[in-house]
Amino acid sequence: MKTLLTAEVEFRIEFVEFIPDKLEDRVLYISTEFKTASHKCPCGCGLEVVTPLSPIRWKLIFDGSVSLDPSIGNWSFPCRSHYWIEGNKAVWAPQWSQERISINREDEASQRDRYVRSGHQKISETRKSQSKLRWWKRIKRKLF
Ligand SMILES: [Zn+2]
Repeated sequence: MKTLLTAEVEFRIEFVEFIPDKLEDRVLYISTEFKTASHKCPCGCGLEVVTPLSPIRWKLIFDGSVSLDPSIGNWSFPCRSHYWIEGNKAVWAPQWSQERISINREDEASQRDRYVRSGHQKISETRKSQSKLRWWKRIKRKLF
């Protein structure tokens, strides 16, 4: 995993209406319809990254190839990868220290409302609470 971090990862760009359930490696899916893009973390860990496209989140730049602005920091992933997508490629950025991550989070929190905080984090939190809910429903069925 670590060695991959210096390797260049080029994405194939797919414009889709819906982001598929199962993402392919090294494909950047873009749904202009739903204003979102999604790809698998280029470090090779296989986790899915969702980047909502909006003026306060990510900007999609299309000049024949695709770039996303700002950089993507997967702080909630075990790999904590940090990169830009520029000209269809993942360009690795230095990994941030835990301290800088929390400073940035505080920063973001003060600048934006809760709703707009880190897209992929929001998604994985949602998934987590969904499975918690499912678990609770199962328990509930047994209890009542
Ligand atoms: Zn990763």
